[in-house]
Amino acid sequence: MEKTTCIVVGAGPAGSACALSLSRKGIDTILLERGRTPGEKNVSSFVLFMTELKRLIPEWEEDLPVERNVVRTDQAIFTGNDIKMITSYNYDKIDDPITFTAFRRRFDAWFAKKAKDAGAELITGMTVTDLIKDKGRVIGVRVGDEELYADVVVGADGYYSSVGEKAGLITEWDPARCTLGVKEVLDLPPEVINERFQVSDGLGCEMGLWHYNYGKLSFGGTTLYTNTDSVSLGIFARVGELKEKNVKLHDELDKLKQHPFIHNFIEGSTLREYQAHIISHGGRIKPENLYGDGVLLCGEAGGLMDTASGMGVPTCMTSGLMAAETIDLAVKKNDFSAGTLKNYLKFLDTTSMLDMVHESKRYSDSLVGNNAGRANYMADIADSYNNYWNADYMSKDYHPLFLNLYLKAGKFFVPSLIRWIVTPIVKGFSLYKKTVEKIKRKIRSRFYEWKKQYDS
Ligand SMILES: Cc1cc2nc3c(=O)[nH]c(=O)nc-3n(C[C@H](O)[C@H](O)[C@H](O)COP(=O)(O)OP(=O)(O)OC[C@H]3O[C@@H](n4cnc5c(N)ncnc54)[C@H](O)[C@@H]3O)c2cc1C
Repeated sequence: MEKTTCIVVGAGPAGSACALSLSRKGIDTILLERGRTPGEKNVSSFVLFMTELKRLIPEWEEDLPVERNVVRTDQAIFTGNDIKMITSYNYDKIDDPITFTAFRRRFDAWFAKKAKDAGAELITGMTVTDLIKDKGRVIGVRVGDEELYADVVVGADGYYSSVGEKAGLITEWDPARCTLGVKEVLDLPPEVINERFQVSDGLGCEMGLWHYNYGKLSFGGTTLYTNTDSVSLGIFARVGELKEKNVKLHDELDKLKQHPFIHNFIEGSTLREYQAHIISHGGRIKPENLYGDGVLLCGEAGGLMDTASGMGVPTCMTSGLMAAETIDLAVKKNDFSAGTLKNYLKFLDTTSMLDMVHESKRYSDSLVGNNAGRANYMADIADSYNNYWNADYMSKDYHPLFLNLYLKAGKFFVPSLIRWIVTPIVKGFSLYKKTVEKIKRKIRSRFYEWKKQYDS
């Protein structure tokens, strides 16, 4: 009977971070991956945020496989036929990059190799089909007919976590609590990318395009990222809503490609790759379901994902590291029961993970519960600007910009208690001003009429 201290299932960002950290601590670890190579089956758009990775692998510059250093971020907000842009530059970060575009196939293979180099046993082409239990406690995994035993099993096997399900920690799959992402990688010569996106060799940009489907879907996020000689175009929507409204996301992607704003960037490109994957909503799983006897969940398997930003790689890696800290404690106590593994929550709480999960849950609730509400706050802001640009000062229909911003976007940003007090005051003040103006106008016109009569 083969037995080790820890089996990590899944060599994505969460699993490799966990295995790397465990191996550095000298804890025997097997990292099991179903793909022939790590990353083969994995999908991101993919902007790689560097803060956590730099801390974990300070010598990353030697061989990290990346595409372009992201020096500009554009947020384009679609409102009907109109688009508003917010652009920010990171040129001060050229020598100390904070984000790169990358491909999961290359990144995951690189990251898993770091875990292997640190001492983890990486076994690929192995799909975990079941857990082995003894009196309810997880003591190993089944890979087809083979059995592998361990003191603790970490489920880092992504959204459809079989570890989470077989351990009884995940009991429901709610389509409202996940997003589908559909992505195309489109080949374009580097010089064409440089010219169209106004970047230079090695430097790139990411565009977040919001509310492309405004009015049709509550969440219409799309992304366009520059790679070395290709661009990645993705579109996202909540699975529950796609089902409810019978919308096919690949059709929406085809339509998006025809939009003049997008078309100008991708014209003449050729399709290299088509990918689709589910992203879970953060807070999908209750914290007390992240651990059990002999088992922990991290990364997407545990719903440890930032719903609002759509970023998962840094959060999933961080949770993998905290799972490793928990296992280190369990090894020292020689106790792998839920009572000890519960410390996972304490370790997560030394990071921003639990706060992030809480906020993500709130954001997810607002998407599920209120289609036309918070999800569209960015479009609301853009609408307010629209009114500003389209102001017709010759008509009487004047909308002060800041009042509009407050009344539209304020419902998202201002806490409800303050809103209940401030909104009637703001509305009352605006009504008072309008009424006073109306009375003044009436008095003025009466005066002019009287003056005309008097003069004649
Ligand atoms: C379209 C899209 C775009 C995204 N863009 C970004 C982005 O730009 N930046 C960002 O930070 N995040 C992004 N994300 C989120 C990010 O991809 C995920 O949050 C992250 O990959 C989760 O990491 P993970 O290690 O938990 O799971 P995964 O990356 O899903 O890895 C799980 C691993 O487990 C393996 N596995 C699964 N089941 C088994 C099994 N039974 N046995 C053995 N192995 C198994 C899989 O093959 C895989 O390697 C995006 C997601 C999507 C879908």
